[in-house]
Amino acid sequence: MIMPAPIELRFLGTGSAIPTVKRGQPAILFHREADFWLFDCGEGTQSRLEQAHVSPLRISKIFITHWHADHFAGLLPLIETMHLNRRTEPLEIYGPDASRFVEDLIELSYWGVGFPIKAIDCEPEPYQKLVETGEYEVWALQTKHSVPSCGFGFIEKPHWHIEMKKVKKLGLERGPKLSEMKEKGKLIVGNKTVMLADVAKQTPGRKIVYTGDTFVYEPLFRWAAGADLLIHDGTFVEPAPMHAHPSVTQVAKMAKRFAVKRLVLVHLSRRYSNNTEIKRAVRPIFKKFSVPDDGDVVRL
Ligand SMILES: [Zn+2]
Repeated sequence: MIMPAPIELRFLGTGSAIPTVKRGQPAILFHREADFWLFDCGEGTQSRLEQAHVSPLRISKIFITHWHADHFAGLLPLIETMHLNRRTEPLEIYGPDASRFVEDLIELSYWGVGFPIKAIDCEPEPYQKLVETGEYEVWALQTKHSVPSCGFGFIEKPHWHIEMKKVKKLGLERGPKLSEMKEKGKLIVGNKTVMLADVAKQTPGRKIVYTGDTFVYEPLFRWAAGADLLIHDGTFVEPAPMHAHPSVTQVAKMAKRFAVKRLVLVHLSRRYSNNTEIKRAVRPIFKKFSVPDDGDVVRL
């Protein structure tokens, strides 16, 4: 049986606007096969990448949830490092108003950029497909913050595991015929039609959602329903409408209602010197959660 490619999420920064010694500004490194992507890129992201032994040259896409400095302050130095390392591969930067902000950033200094940067504007209403390959899709998801913002959703297409015993009985071997059956859902063998579902098992693909900063917002939870991982704004224990952040108990209630498999709370306020208060608030509502520290890794 072919196992799906491992997915690794590394929490480079789990803090919020004002970093502390323990928690840096927001950044998450996503790694699946050849894909290395960043979700947000706060101050200090490149030194965190260095700690993780990941070269910035490997990063092909950067997703920025919104243009508050704690979510993009690391972008300029990271692009400069890519340039100094003679990057030639293109870089894609996604976000609300990305084209305007990326252009402004690049004009901020004399150095110029020796590789193409493509900025892609996100305008989810409430959802917008950004990327589609044969294996997965990436979506922008509407969120509700104090400035234009969005979250991002990664979803794999279902995997088909062909049971070789069954196909061998039909006189088939691995090769183009089986690929054709996977693609079309059926295959004509001799004078009969073999349905893919009769000789293969389907397992659903994995779903991962990262919200960035947002109030609890129901349309986003609808997309995130049943997600393997929901990485949500967990800035405060108490609601903070003045700052456009939810309380972790509101988030936990929604995660339960929408049957999220694992909730991960990030963007923690510096007022919490450890995770105890947050855990105490969330645990009675929803047990399948974690509060990562900088450098923690989740594997799916
Ligand atoms: Zn923030």
